[in-house]
Amino acid sequence: MRASNLYAPTLRNTPAEAEIVSHQFMYRAGFIRKSAGGIYTFLPLAWRTIRKIENIIREEMDAAGGQEIMMPILQPSELWEESGRWSAYGEEMMRMKDRHGRDFCLGPTHEEMMTALVRDEVRSYKQLPLMLYQIQDKFRDERRPRFGLMRSREFIMKDLYSFDKDEEGMNASYQKMYDAYTNVFTRCGLKFRPVEADNGAIGGARSHEFTVLADNGESSIAICTKCDYAASDEKTELTAIEAAAEERQPLEKVVTPNTSTIEALVDFLRVPIEKTIKAVAYQTDKDELILAFVRGDHEVNEVKVQNAVPGAQELRMAEDATIAAAGGCAGFMSPIGIKKGTHIIVDATVMKMYNAVAGANEKDVHYKGVNPARDFTNEGLIVTDIRLVKEGDPCPHCGAPLTMTRGIEAGQVFTLGTKYSEAMGAKFLDENGKEHPLLMGCYGIGVGRTMAAAIEQNNDKDGICWPRAIAPFEVVVVAVNAKKDAQLACAEEIYAECRKVKLDTLLDDRRERAGVKFKDCDLIGYPIRITVGPKAVEEGDIEVKVRKTGEVFHFTRETYIENVQELLKNL
Ligand code: ATP
Ligand code: MG
Repeated sequence: MRASNLYAPTLRNTPAEAEIVSHQFMYRAGFIRKSAGGIYTFLPLAWRTIRKIENIIREEMDAAGGQEIMMPILQPSELWEESGRWSAYGEEMMRMKDRHGRDFCLGPTHEEMMTALVRDEVRSYKQLPLMLYQIQDKFRDERRPRFGLMRSREFIMKDLYSFDKDEEGMNASYQKMYDAYTNVFTRCGLKFRPVEADNGAIGGARSHEFTVLADNGESSIAICTKCDYAASDEKTELTAIEAAAEERQPLEKVVTPNTSTIEALVDFLRVPIEKTIKAVAYQTDKDELILAFVRGDHEVNEVKVQNAVPGAQELRMAEDATIAAAGGCAGFMSPIGIKKGTHIIVDATVMKMYNAVAGANEKDVHYKGVNPARDFTNEGLIVTDIRLVKEGDPCPHCGAPLTMTRGIEAGQVFTLGTKYSEAMGAKFLDENGKEHPLLMGCYGIGVGRTMAAAIEQNNDKDGICWPRAIAPFEVVVVAVNAKKDAQLACAEEIYAECRKVKLDTLLDDRRERAGVKFKDCDLIGYPIRITVGPKAVEEGDIEVKVRKTGEVFHFTRETYIENVQELLKNL
């Protein structure tokens, strides 16, 4: 490919809406263009990278026993009614009607479709295990599409589904996919961690997210400083912290004006924050009230709260009126005096506290001498781990301190058990002719998000520094002055020599100033730049620059190819 023919419109300025580096560089380097919020066109450079990522994924899925198929994007509502997700999926689902008024959606994921496909065909244990996958556009009407390809509304996903006859088989399939994902991200040249994750609304028991490490990633993960434990912050299990035992004081009301925040309360009463209890009030989609209590210096983990209340969906902050109706007072809350029928969830650490301060469910009033084990006597009160992990918390496996890191969820693997096969009647006959529901797993990789994550992890102020495996081109040959015939001819020769040894090469033959071309090379981020100027023509001196390190080498015409191949091995 010649740069003079390449459709890669580069820009000097960053569009205002591009908040993160990957979005900015993809825009400026001519990789993507927006058509509507969260909806993008991939230009040739981006598409080359996407195809490389897809091919790595394909090879690894095939090697693990997956078979590629292609399903429709349009999905009839009936399948989703069967699984119960037509209503549960909420506003994220892009819905439409056909001319007969029948409901359809643009697939946000394909569990229902896959289950429906195999239930009609898979009858016997002899047809198992089975793994089917596709690489296809998915649609999710995200509440906040942003960060370019990172969180878009139409995005490319590889989704694989496994079907097994028993738990052991399902776990074996899960392990195969876990290993295949490890290979995919390793081959893409990315630094990543598989982390234990919450299964969320999809159901099932086991899950890992494959998180590409990057400082401004949306995911926060806890990594043990000693053992190999790593988990998303939502998932990290925490044990209750024991407070030093004290003699229990009686409960006593104190007037605390303008102390609806913990900071104000601590300031006013001059108590340590570890002696306070704070509340967060949620309302479910069915308008049930959930009150969650944690120690003042801890944060509530919403996912754990949701998991603690069966059937709770789409939590939002509770309205003051709802709180008041339950006997509470926003900003001054404790379980004491809250009416029956409210879900009260108290973090296990709170139950171990002595003589704490908590709200009295009256404006500007708190209780002192709160001893949760004695005073929180509400019927149905749930005590469990609902706090969010923070730096230094103990590892649930070995007790060593955890450290917090940020990253980007590029893929996720789940076991699903029989959730979909039972709901949708996908059954098979075992060796004894007995009928069982299929055991399933599902496994997704965001292809565009992986590309964006690669940029977040590999860039500098001048642009992208692609890992070789997923760079749009591995090598760029730049004719410094393409108006000079001898230089252009020499660059053409070198371009041909590179291609001959199967290096994925671009020839920058544009009649632009050298400075402009070099800037574009750095912005687009080809791993290796070969510069062909007068010295190359006259002395056979070939200049090779490594994008990532900025190192410059000079090789002879005879040896440069081997050296470039050698350099690429480490990129
Ligand atoms: P998130 O929590 O970030 O919304 P998710 O957990 O809902 O993602 P999955 O259903 O696990 O996503 O989808 C599999 C993969 O698809 C994700 O790991 C991610 O790489 C990708 N993906 C999901 N949503 C988007 C999106 N809106 N834009 C781009 N990629 C996405
Ligand atoms: Mg996910």
